[in-house]
Amino acid sequence: MFSPDVVGHQALRQRLLDRLQSGRIRGSLLFTGPEGVGKRRVALELAQRELCFRRTACGQCEGCRMFAGEDLPFELPNLLRITPEGKAGVIRIDQVREGLDSDHGQRFSSGVIEWAHLAPPPGCHRWILVEEAHRLQKNSANLLLKTLEEPPPGTHFILVTHRPEAVIQTIRSRCERIPFGPLAPAEAWAVAQRNGWQDAEHERWSVLGEGSLRYLDEGAFRRAEAQVEAWLGLLGGRSFAEIAGPLLPEKDSPLAQGEQLRQPLELLLRLLADLARLGAGEAPTLSPWRESLAALAATPRDLKGPQEAVLEALRHLPRNLSPEPLIREVALSLGS
Ligand SMILES: [Zn+2]
Repeated sequence: MFSPDVVGHQALRQRLLDRLQSGRIRGSLLFTGPEGVGKRRVALELAQRELCFRRTACGQCEGCRMFAGEDLPFELPNLLRITPEGKAGVIRIDQVREGLDSDHGQRFSSGVIEWAHLAPPPGCHRWILVEEAHRLQKNSANLLLKTLEEPPPGTHFILVTHRPEAVIQTIRSRCERIPFGPLAPAEAWAVAQRNGWQDAEHERWSVLGEGSLRYLDEGAFRRAEAQVEAWLGLLGGRSFAEIAGPLLPEKDSPLAQGEQLRQPLELLLRLLADLARLGAGEAPTLSPWRESLAALAATPRDLKGPQEAVLEALRHLPRNLSPEPLIREVALSLGS
């Protein structure tokens, strides 16, 4: 039996469990796959089963209660979580060395490496979960390398990321990669319905989310929708000053400014691919916007130039400090 809190990935979860129980699993794992498909939750489930009174991650008992809710502690008897911190949103070396959690004013019982070497509680492993592993700073990663390569018996690292290409290569090569696919559309929509989403939004929500739960939050969904509309407007010749608002970073977002541009740029890539599809007589994947797309596709246009501009912008995101000129440049490439 699996945790009722985790959706989908049945075969993968069963395989992980079987391998864990028969001791045929690597010490360090890298969970990869699209954002918002539940990679982190599957990792937590492995730890939760061991603290569950029924050993099933039942979701009901005292042991499982420690894993419920949004405010999951950074340290549990068999689990240590390392997450990006601060305005820069990175995993700093002092977090790894001293187990410091400055945002929350607390300190773990020890540094990560020391923690990895403690004896696990009876019947448990020790799990070290590195969330958003692409945000490990280089010196933090280097400090972890040796322990990650060969964790002490009974200790497992799980690094989770939707951007494996941005994880430092020396780390990647020391982990076994466990790839996650998107959720089945029906699985994702069932979660959305439990969170109050109504049938009227079904198509848009499913098409934008592509089998992920990244738009469970209504604000995030509306923003993505507004970004699609803004790009459609720019493609249709409207002016940047007039409608580009939703494409620009928000001041109060927890994400770094450059990182906030990833989503609108990826949406633009999807729109451009759809225009190419329509040009070839195929149906667009962004089906709720098929009419606007068809109207745009009626006029032949260069799609290669804008596509290259977007890919170039995406390459510069990690370093870019002033995102507005970047997005303006991409918008300009659409006008030609
Ligand atoms: Zn339980």
